[in-house]
Amino acid sequence: MKLPSSVTLCEVGLRDGLQNEKTLLSTDEKVELLRGLIDAGYRVIEVGSFMHPKAVPQMADTDEVYRRIGAVPGVELRALIPNLRGVQRAVDCGCKKVKLNVSASRMHNLKNLNMTPEQSVAGFAGCVEAASANGIAISGSISMPFASPWEGRTPVEDVDAIIEAYLKVGIREISLSDASGMAVPNQVSELCAHVQEKYPEASWWLHFHNTRGMAMANILAAMEVGMTQFDSSFGGLGGCPFVPGAAGNISSEDVIHMCDEMGVETGVDVVKVMALSRRLRDLLDHNLESYVLRAGRSSDLIGSKS
Ligand code: ZN
Repeated sequence: MKLPSSVTLCEVGLRDGLQNEKTLLSTDEKVELLRGLIDAGYRVIEVGSFMHPKAVPQMADTDEVYRRIGAVPGVELRALIPNLRGVQRAVDCGCKKVKLNVSASRMHNLKNLNMTPEQSVAGFAGCVEAASANGIAISGSISMPFASPWEGRTPVEDVDAIIEAYLKVGIREISLSDASGMAVPNQVSELCAHVQEKYPEASWWLHFHNTRGMAMANILAAMEVGMTQFDSSFGGLGGCPFVPGAAGNISSEDVIHMCDEMGVETGVDVVKVMALSRRLRDLLDHNLESYVLRAGRSSDLIGSKS
């Protein structure tokens, strides 16, 4: 099996996870978890989002979390933004990396925004300009590039058109986000190989929800064709308000554990992440979707008395 020697993981639980929770964590608790994640070795973390606080109350204090944590050398602290107002909030609180998002579902986009996905992305030009004028890096995400609950398989030409719209406004770091948890490994392999070959100037991230238990297989399929940047969520936290039955992201500790066992470097300490997931479980007071948290590491069994 062809595997990369190392991968980069972005921890997205503080954003993608917490935004779907009924329990609102305090700013103190978020800062504690964020410090823990940095200490565990993460070099990329999605801290929160600058959505309207009424729409996503769980993320209302993202600005404050940034102010409290300050700049952390060598660690990219990313936030999801909906529009230009998001860039302004990033400037005001010292956030240096923002991410935009568009749905690859034409139907979803037309119904909600009355625009095609490409038109949405073209509208991001002002965000890119404002971000670069303020020294803020910017990336873009495409949700449901594999399939959507409304239209089924997403045509590759549609994905290409969105990628080209992103490149046109000057965004080269692009995330393919299987928010609906409908991607399958052979499709992941094909789309990943296709986009890498067609758009060699871009840098790719993969973001898989584990709604149907396929996220780990999808990560492996992407790794095999040379992808090296993946999102995951500690404790497998998360969901998606628009997608029926959506489960969380693939659990970070499960991904790190698999990489550790396969000899693929992540730079992240799985034992520390497991401790943070236990802390998260206590704070949220419900069980989390994580195999390794339940069963422990394979390597812990060696020499154990059974
Ligand atoms: Zn997600």
